[in-house]
Amino acid sequence: DGSLTLMLQAFPFGQKRHLLLIQDVTDLQNADAMRRDFVANVSHEMRTPITVLMGFLETVQSLELQKDQQDQYFDLMMAQAQRMKSLVEDLLTLANLESNALPASNTVVKVETLMALIKNDAEALSQGKHALSFDILSPMNLLGDEREILSAFSNLVSNAIRYTPEVGAIHVSWNQNEQGQGEFSVTDSGPGIASEHLSRLTERFYRVDRSRSRDTGGTGLGLAIVKHIANRHQAQLVIESTPGKGSKFLLRFPQDRLAA
Ligand code: ADP
Repeated sequence: DGSLTLMLQAFPFGQKRHLLLIQDVTDLQNADAMRRDFVANVSHEMRTPITVLMGFLETVQSLELQKDQQDQYFDLMMAQAQRMKSLVEDLLTLANLESNALPASNTVVKVETLMALIKNDAEALSQGKHALSFDILSPMNLLGDEREILSAFSNLVSNAIRYTPEVGAIHVSWNQNEQGQGEFSVTDSGPGIASEHLSRLTERFYRVDRSRSRDTGGTGLGLAIVKHIANRHQAQLVIESTPGKGSKFLLRFPQDRLAA
């Protein structure tokens, strides 16, 4: 926002003199505030499922439940535990990507293989509630890290499915554009996203609608992960959306990331 934080320190210097040290600590302060925000967010995200889980445990403990009622509670508890597991996994993925400790490997990644995997997962997640379509319009493959690219593609597809109401349509495609770049795109007929949110979607834990996003089972880290993976592959993440009509998430890879 253009504000500056300066730190002033005075040191005695000789008999009558002082040395005045003025330091610009704006970046340090911002980094510190971001770290505090992040820890607060993680704690909050962890505490919610733990609280819910404990509530269910108390219920099971204190009530004499029939076997089928008990099973229902166990399913609910499992869902909360699963949520914590996803959060921890996404946090680890993000930490690994951010530390840059493991450089993305550079092998030929078969787009056909990726699409088959994505299609399988998408069908399982959608449970027949959406019209899903998948198109490979270019024979080109990708040069990069298979696990990372699959993770980025899957994140975009699972978001489309999770945010698009029943009977909506989701189209996934791989193509080479006129400039020779590779484009993986996911188009949905979901709720769309107002333009003021678009530039912030890849921030960790940024959500357009807090309560609804959590209901959909997301960790709030998906697009942050996608963005990191895109950067590591010199790819661009382009988001276009019209509220009420739907969204398009596109990953654009430079031509030298394409392979026969
Ligand atoms: P989350 O786990 O909350 O889905 P993400 O980082 O994957 O976290 O996405 C961030 C936010 O972007 C979501 O909370 C949601 O508000 C919005 N979003 C992502 N994908 C879509 C989509 N296909 N349609 C509408 N909103 C979306």
